[in-house]
Amino acid sequence: MVTISKKINDAINAQINWEMWSGYLYLSMANNFEAMGHKGIANWFTIQYKEELAHAQIFINYLNSRGGRVLLAPIAAVPTEWATPLEAFKATLEHEQNVTALINNLYALAEEEKDFATRQMLNWFVAEQVEEEDTARTLIDNFTLIGDNGYGIYQLDTELATRTYTDPSPLQNN
Ligand code: MG
Repeated sequence: MVTISKKINDAINAQINWEMWSGYLYLSMANNFEAMGHKGIANWFTIQYKEELAHAQIFINYLNSRGGRVLLAPIAAVPTEWATPLEAFKATLEHEQNVTALINNLYALAEEEKDFATRQMLNWFVAEQVEEEDTARTLIDNFTLIGDNGYGIYQLDTELATRTYTDPSPLQNN
């Protein structure tokens, strides 16, 4: 049985597409840095890509659990070239700020529609966006600090190579 309004259903479908697009963006960044020989940075963006797919899956599972209808739309093209890690992390922060605005809009719509279950589900994403922005900002600071110091970039690349993937939200990923 459908227990979700068409407005919310459509908005969640749009958000699923944004999460998939985010994944596509980070996968593109990963391959850009792979081609430049920065394997650690490529690893970091590959994990970021996997997290975005997990975000999309959370929305998919949620919509299905409400008897909604998941409709997958085409994923728009993404940029393919970033000259430096700093440029890519600046683009990452800018993108995550846009995603935060989208989550906030969805939250406002859930309030407007008095859909408290959707509001509750979105709380996880509100907190997640704070973390995403904070992480990007920290990496911008680090890459700004080292500038074009090759050894510094090598060190950071080595550090980012240690990032491993963990399911961002096992509780909601039923
Ligand atoms: Mg996301």
